[in-house]
Amino acid sequence: MLTPPAEQAVAALIADLQRVRAGLPHHGSRPPHEQARHLSDEVAAGGLAPLVHDLLDASDPAPVTTARLDLTQSDSRARLASYELWRGEARERITELWEWVTRRRQAAGAAPWWSVGMGLPPVAESLRRLADVSEPITCLAPLARRWAATAGLAGGTAEHDWRWLMLGNGLPQARAEARDLPTLDHLLRRLVQRLRVHDLLPTSHTVRLLRRPNSPSMVLPVQVPGDSLLSLPTEVSPATVQYLQHELAHLAEHALRPPDAQLAERWRFDPVRSEGWALLMEYVVRSPDSLRQLGLTPRAAVDLSRFLHQEEAFSRGMMAVDVALDARLGTLRTPRELLAEAARLLARTGLGWAPELVALRLTRIVHWRAYLAGYAFRDAALGLLTRRFGAGWSADARAWLALRTALAATGSASDFLATLGGRGSPEDRAHSSYTSP
Ligand SMILES: [Zn+2]
Repeated sequence: MLTPPAEQAVAALIADLQRVRAGLPHHGSRPPHEQARHLSDEVAAGGLAPLVHDLLDASDPAPVTTARLDLTQSDSRARLASYELWRGEARERITELWEWVTRRRQAAGAAPWWSVGMGLPPVAESLRRLADVSEPITCLAPLARRWAATAGLAGGTAEHDWRWLMLGNGLPQARAEARDLPTLDHLLRRLVQRLRVHDLLPTSHTVRLLRRPNSPSMVLPVQVPGDSLLSLPTEVSPATVQYLQHELAHLAEHALRPPDAQLAERWRFDPVRSEGWALLMEYVVRSPDSLRQLGLTPRAAVDLSRFLHQEEAFSRGMMAVDVALDARLGTLRTPRELLAEAARLLARTGLGWAPELVALRLTRIVHWRAYLAGYAFRDAALGLLTRRFGAGWSADARAWLALRTALAATGSASDFLATLGGRGSPEDRAHSSYTSP
């Protein structure tokens, strides 16, 4: 239990650590890593040591590539050139990756290796859901080829192409960008407006918008509730609406944290719940009706809705490989064997996907696991909403009130579903448990 001034000091430290992580200057008079040393007793007393340790990330940072595929390039040759750089760097980092994973696996002991460094770890049940996810590896080549054909592109299964196509660049409206796609500002305004209508985003929560070209969209809590950073790529592709909605869903979760709860409780985000909630909001935004209301033509809305469903299947196919490779780690002895195993699994996708790039995705395995567990959570939530409010639940204010109540409570993925199901009635309680696919 922290005194109010100590809690304030720790909250300010976490805020500065988040700002620095986002590449922004800190607000405090001394650098956050110094401040963290100074406040170590208070941090420990507040139960926030794992979070601060994770944010400092000084002990053993994951290997990352500085190069990345330039997805702003509509010219296939330019993409290929940036891809070669990216792949070359990934190849050079494989030994480093292997050593990093090995150290983590040794340090974790009996716990899953990726659960070390999760910040404030979720409850045992959610941890189990993360550990238990599995997804069939499917052949993704026919879908990549179909997208490529619409784009008038021959090599749809080459990595520099399918990653570009995953943004919806093959859709007809992507070519007529200025005419058919709403601008980022327009999308942002409309999606925020929707959240406000459902009372999911209090105006008291401030959001600083960062525009970063060719970078994934991302939202970082700085103070919960109170302050978030939203980082967005500058260019709009057809898939933007879904990514934007995803991040705004996380933003709503930050903004609805109960201000009177203890700091550790406000900062504990159950990854299954957080990702599942964001995936639920993605599901809602991609219906043709919803896309039309955002300013797309009826034809474009139908095309994009279909594409976004396909994109989910494609992304899940990628994560299926990640999880399968992770499951095989215990049988591998060298970086060479890691690459060989990745190549073996990748062959089943039918995509020209570099084994070194899939191997590097292991550093983010918690995210892939959280998405896969999140899909099961989303489907359970959809089941509950439909059962309580009917198939048209997304037009029912009572359904949004139930979602808001569930989101505004802290707690685990299961607690969220129990609240959503209408806590109390035995019938609802029976439906509130769920199983992973
Ligand atoms: Zn997310």
